[in-house]
Amino acid sequence: MHAQDELSPFQAKVEPPPLHKNESDPAKPTSVIFKAAVALILVVLVGMSLLGVLSYSVYDAKTELIGRSFNFEVDRKAMEFEREVRLNLEIMFALRSGLALLPVVNRGVFHELTADVLRRAPAIHGFAYAPWLEDKDRADFERVMQTEFSAFELTQVSGNGGTDTASERSRYVPVQYIEPLKLNRAALGFDLASEPNRLAALRAARLSGEMVATAGLTLVQETENKRGILVFTPLYHGNPTTPQGRRAAHYAFINGVYRIETLYEQSIGAVASGNFLVRIIDVTDGIEDVLFASGNPRDERWRSDMARVEILPDVAGREWAVEVTPTEEYISSQRGYLPTLIMVSGSLLLVLMASYVLFTVQRNNELRKTKQELEQVSLTDGLTGLANRRHFDQYLEQEWTRAQRDGLPLSLILIDIDYFKPFNDEYGHPAGDECLKRVSDVLRTVSRRPGDLVARYGGEEFALILPQTDTAQTVAEACRLAVEALSIPHAASGTAPVVTVSAGVCTLVPQPGMSPGLLTQSTDVALYEAKAKGRNRTHMMKVASVDIEKTRTQGDNPT
Ligand code: GH3
Ligand code: MG
Ligand code: MG
Repeated sequence: MHAQDELSPFQAKVEPPPLHKNESDPAKPTSVIFKAAVALILVVLVGMSLLGVLSYSVYDAKTELIGRSFNFEVDRKAMEFEREVRLNLEIMFALRSGLALLPVVNRGVFHELTADVLRRAPAIHGFAYAPWLEDKDRADFERVMQTEFSAFELTQVSGNGGTDTASERSRYVPVQYIEPLKLNRAALGFDLASEPNRLAALRAARLSGEMVATAGLTLVQETENKRGILVFTPLYHGNPTTPQGRRAAHYAFINGVYRIETLYEQSIGAVASGNFLVRIIDVTDGIEDVLFASGNPRDERWRSDMARVEILPDVAGREWAVEVTPTEEYISSQRGYLPTLIMVSGSLLLVLMASYVLFTVQRNNELRKTKQELEQVSLTDGLTGLANRRHFDQYLEQEWTRAQRDGLPLSLILIDIDYFKPFNDEYGHPAGDECLKRVSDVLRTVSRRPGDLVARYGGEEFALILPQTDTAQTVAEACRLAVEALSIPHAASGTAPVVTVSAGVCTLVPQPGMSPGLLTQSTDVALYEAKAKGRNRTHMMKVASVDIEKTRTQGDNPT
């Protein structure tokens, strides 16, 4: 049989010969990578969770901060608006004081007093002076007024929204002077008491002496549907302090028309951005009446769940609310990118790290595999797959030390094929190789103990290291019989028709001062004996202490 027909030594079904036979097999590379991958996935998952918690807590803290800064913003806006409202209402008080000082109020005086104020206070749409008029004085009043305005008469709101002559009532509060006159001429003579909303405010003002505002109304003078309020301040003779006294001393009202939009624009609106929807709502008596909205409340941009309300408890007797709603953009612009940044960059870093670790593990694994392969190659005989001479030397050294330390016997068997040169000559070199392989295989099967090592010692010589064994000759004999039993024909043999081997055996307990060389040399002598005695046999070598001494003095020569 030719060597090339057979398995190559690397494909041989033999186990690799580890240097340390009692060492357990290294973990499989795939399982190492799998374990590393599982561990990394766990680490990444835990890392991601921690990142999630971190970025959520940052998000949460930021949300609270946004809430607080938004509250502050709402407070500020409400304060600004309230200040603007109060400032504009104060003007009414100033006007009242001015009018109270005058002996006579007429158109010229009223114009003088109000023209400048109106120019400077754009939120005030106009001022009117309206006396408290008993029905008995109506005709006189109208006559006097007609000297200046020929068509003057007392009017009231008609059914179709225009104005009619005022129907007869016990008292009237007609507009006598109005500024700016040019725009409001139509309101001259209009009986403020003819309309229930205004009458209620007038009554309240007359009795309390306070400034009283009406509910929101649509300003007739406006081209657009703008809302406003009327504010009434009563004028008295003297300084009455009781409701009865005030009723008796009351003679007229100053009426201011206020535009809510301008109040907003003069305060909050001056620095407003598109980020907030501001609504001014009259909430007196629990009824919500929107006086002004800075944008369309139905717009989807508003985060209505974040709307905040600040109450102005007393706006000339009414309760107003300033409601501020932020946009989603405002909230997200305040929030910033920190939570997302933490999550994204953290995850990226984690994945990068994990990939790097995985890559390193994989590379280390490959390196280890290559190293193992190299080690195996360097310790294995290429033809037979047995341990090579190098491996044999290392293993003998290792076991020698161990046996010496533990005081246990160590055996060595050297096996040499008989008449192998003639075999080669007879059957050819490839057949010789094949024979070597078959002998190797059979030797491996005979030596089954875990600590045993079968090595190719030289060309057609084999060695068996048997630690803790003092029955080595039995093993050697078994080897010899097993080879013979292979029945490989050997016509050129001088001892049998088949391939046979001779074996030398030596067992000793290594003592201090001995070297492994003593064991190999002694075994070699035993092998020589076996050959000399006719081959196809085993010979056991006994090592005496004398021999040891001799070995030492003669410089490692066999006995
Ligand atoms: P003895 O019975 O005394 O051992 O005689 P021998 O012929 O076996 O011993 P000798 O030392 O004279 O010859 C050994 C031969 O083994 C020589 C060599 O051609 C052969 N040999 C050594 N290694 C190999 C090998 O790898 N393959 C083959 N085919 N032959 C080998
Ligand atoms: Mg030989
Ligand atoms: Mg030989």
